[in-house]
Amino acid sequence: MSHYMLEMHQVTKRFGDHEVLKQFSLLVPPGEKVVLIGPSGSGKSTVLRCINHLEPIQDGNIIVNGHEVRDKRALRQLRQNIGMVFQRFNLFPHKTVLENVMSGPVIVKKIPVVEARQLALGLLDRVGLAEKVNSYPKELSGGQQQRAAIARALAMNPDVMLFDEPTSALDPELVDEVLSVMTDLAKEGMTMLVVTHEMAFAREFGDHVLFMDQGVVVEEGTAEQIFTAPQQQRTRDFLRRVY
Ligand code: ADP
Ligand code: MG
Repeated sequence: MSHYMLEMHQVTKRFGDHEVLKQFSLLVPPGEKVVLIGPSGSGKSTVLRCINHLEPIQDGNIIVNGHEVRDKRALRQLRQNIGMVFQRFNLFPHKTVLENVMSGPVIVKKIPVVEARQLALGLLDRVGLAEKVNSYPKELSGGQQQRAAIARALAMNPDVMLFDEPTSALDPELVDEVLSVMTDLAKEGMTMLVVTHEMAFAREFGDHVLFMDQGVVVEEGTAEQIFTAPQQQRTRDFLRRVY
């Protein structure tokens, strides 16, 4: 058994002739918080989508908690072990917040409804939504919807949580409430891979930071190394523009 929670080895991803990930590698030990930064179009979302097998890869391999992602028989299990939170709120609009959080455990995991309800209420309390359990997504602010989406992902008890710019569609005043739920989750030891353009958060939150551009990791290191002493010109140029 490998001691990494997530491994990407020399992954190549193409869309037609366009090579979007070029020999992309990443090793994440259990409990580590990894932040992925880079310009728009550099391949960050594609990395997350490949981990979840929402996109097939052309070469290399991806292993999540010892299970190879390409193994079709393991795919259902694999998806259960990976929680994903997207940029746009991905709640079911016709279900209440509570039903949104309960549905995975009940439908996919066949957990008894009474138990799933308790689990969901606990998670919604943890993300500060105890008062909103019976509301519908459209009755919530964007920040509340994202916190509900995090609770919904957590309900499947994943090994790894992937976040794809979870605050980029939010009004500025709602960003912190989502980042603070993520920070709480990090403190509890969750393994997390986060794509973000919130550089102050990336610096504070990330154990390990990767800067990628045009499908390759240009530079990686501790948050301190990347933000205070970037070695590559491309990293320096990017940080000067966004930070
Ligand atoms: P980022 O998240 O860093 O902005 P993406 O991973 O979304 O970048 O995209 C990386 C590159 O892959 C971009 O050039 C994008 O146009 C291309 N791409 C992403 N998804 C598709 C797709 N489904 N079909 C074709 N090209 C795609
Ligand atoms: Mg993206």
